[in-house]
Amino acid sequence: MSVSTQGSVDIAATGAADRVFNFSAGPAVLPVQVLEEVQREMVCLPGAGASLMELSHRGKVFVDIVESAVEDIRSLLRVPETHEVLFVQGGATLQFSMIPANLLRSQDAAAAYLITGSWGKKALTEARKEGEVDVVYDASSTNFNHAPGAGDFEVKEDAAYAYYCCNETIQGVQFQSEPQVPSDVPLVCDASSDLFSRPLDISKYGLIYACAQKNAGPAGATVVIIRKDLIDRGSDSLPGYLLYKNHANAGSMWNTPATFPIYVMGKVLKWIQSNFGDLESMRDHNEAKAKLLYDVLDANPDFYVGHADENARSRMNVTFNLPSDDQLQAFIGSAADAGLANLKGHRSVGGVRASVYNAMPIEGVEKLAQFMTDFASR
Ligand code: PMP
Repeated sequence: MSVSTQGSVDIAATGAADRVFNFSAGPAVLPVQVLEEVQREMVCLPGAGASLMELSHRGKVFVDIVESAVEDIRSLLRVPETHEVLFVQGGATLQFSMIPANLLRSQDAAAAYLITGSWGKKALTEARKEGEVDVVYDASSTNFNHAPGAGDFEVKEDAAYAYYCCNETIQGVQFQSEPQVPSDVPLVCDASSDLFSRPLDISKYGLIYACAQKNAGPAGATVVIIRKDLIDRGSDSLPGYLLYKNHANAGSMWNTPATFPIYVMGKVLKWIQSNFGDLESMRDHNEAKAKLLYDVLDANPDFYVGHADENARSRMNVTFNLPSDDQLQAFIGSAADAGLANLKGHRSVGGVRASVYNAMPIEGVEKLAQFMTDFASR
């Protein structure tokens, strides 16, 4: 399903008319409807007599917002009763440490890490500070351009957990399905740049997490979905904030949560539900968008060189290079002039990165695809 997501009430009055198509990798584009709703409620949230930012996190207004966000996460991702949904701060980066602090520190066995890009590598660095780590797959020798196939790696039966990043935002490399690990080994996943962009079978995961600022809201809130039996693995000797147990026991209110980001995330989740219904439909929309761009790469193989192998192409971050640096600079510059912004790739990969998260309207991707075709023919 392709849905136009540019709908707006009074674009001149809200500033929406000045918006570009923003291909930033994150913080990233948000739905205009959500921004307008936030704008309308900024000074006074209806019925609350104040802005959401001015309200206690323990008051009914915010508690209702958190509960509704958790409910919507549960329903969109079909989170089973065996799993808890938590909001924490510290971004996805703090999870690089919290995960091994809780799930590895007290264990005899090593944790298995699959490294398919920059974010997995950063997580590995932090895990090594907490315990023994077994790197069971490492794609660095090909500058992280692919994901492993079945049989390309082996996770030991007694591993503390197996960790991977399902969408490497910088390289634009995405797993098309979960890696196979022994059934008793908890699968742990950094889904920062694709959670809520497609359906996932949460029952397969011991823990899966995402920062908000790609597909679900502004920076500041991180969603952690953790299997209940793993919550107690962390030792009480850890700093309190780092213990999942504390966040779970306090309903994500162990300290003051990121109230404003959670409030906006709640609106984005509602936007997904009302515009797309479910994540199957969200995925179809995202696949249609990414295909527009990959089709241009495939039609111009002498000009555009995609970074990711075809079977690991990300539907969220489309990464490619041009024949020369001059052409790359000209591409980025003329794209920006045409209202196609923030296309510069990460310095470690170079080239172009077009991030086409949930809220990127199909019109923006169509415009970029046309721009790419025209640029290649010039
Ligand atoms: N993991 C992935 C896959 C990411 O894309 C990012 C952010 N770009 C991070 C982790 C780090 O997130 P944060 O900046 O919120 O700590």
